Amino acid sequence: MEKERILIIGGGPAGLEAAYNLAENNYAVTIFEKDTEIGGNIKKWVKLFPDFGDAAEVRKNFKDKVTRQDIDIKTDISINELYSENGKWFAKNSSGNVYEGNAALLATGFETFNASRKEELGYGIYNNVITSVEFEQMYKTGKIITAEGKTPERIAFLNCVGSRDEKVGNHYCSRICCINAVKQAIEFKELVPDAEAYCFYMDMRMAGQFYEELYRKSQEKFGVTYIRGRISEAAGTIDNRIQIKSEDTLTGLPLKMTVDLLVLMVGIESSDSTTALAKQNEINGEYGFAKSVGLHGSDNLTKKEGLFLAGSCKRPLTLPETIADGRAAAIQIIEFLKLKVKN
Ligand code: SF4
Repeated sequence: MEKERILIIGGGPAGLEAAYNLAENNYAVTIFEKDTEIGGNIKKWVKLFPDFGDAAEVRKNFKDKVTRQDIDIKTDISINELYSENGKWFAKNSSGNVYEGNAALLATGFETFNASRKEELGYGIYNNVITSVEFEQMYKTGKIITAEGKTPERIAFLNCVGSRDEKVGNHYCSRICCINAVKQAIEFKELVPDAEAYCFYMDMRMAGQFYEELYRKSQEKFGVTYIRGRISEAAGTIDNRIQIKSEDTLTGLPLKMTVDLLVLMVGIESSDSTTALAKQNEINGEYGFAKSVGLHGSDNLTKKEGLFLAGSCKRPLTLPETIADGRAAAIQIIEFLKLKVKN
């Protein structure tokens, strides 16, 4: 008997974890990944928080798991249309090819906020204003340097760029950038122990396990300084440094500081494909994310029969949450298909 097939849109951790669990349970799976390689946003990271786990190793484990199974992995494919007809699901790519399945899983992940939308922070204007994603890429080379090739003597990290921000229309917290700032500040101090590292924040949200401990360690062992205040403006100086203006909201005093490198901790936004495919299926929620039936026990379900959700296509999630959510989605899909057979 031919196996029932599940179409998974997105080859990041949520999609891969779901695919592996479905294949383990004897279902046929097709994964559509828009990039040349699977792995999603893990590809952008070197080390993961809060344990400094090797991101490449985690990605390799995922790859090994899915390639051990008979899973049809289609890379370099963007799905433009996702729809159902007569109880089947169909995914259509930009070349017009149509793929058929018995259920579909949206696992289209997230994109990071485009920092040039915050013009006052100087991203795209001054070379020494970079994003946390670019910091990560630089860290991969084993050194953190300015655009002029110098080792920074002073670095600042700015939290909440593109999140909790009325002006850009994102009121939500991205949940991963506080701890990422702590991680990157430690990484910097490990590389350049004599340099100064400052982190500007609104609140330090250390809600994950071992986050608080790492936050303390960053201060006690590595000497990272945290300043409660948002940077209102960043401007280039004649010697290519960055002058930042802020207010220390704990003391109520205005603050000016010149740094060699300013790192913008960019938040999470819905990916274009999430927004488009969610809209097509009338499951679009707030901020372009896809909407599940409910948070408590039905978070992988949608109001469309046979269409499921996993991971950060719903809202910002941490990596462990994303992986668990991929597995939960697989269970929900299996239950749905078994029930369908019975009926
Ligand atoms: S996790 Fe921290 S930096 Fe990120 S949006 Fe929330 S409060 Fe801001």
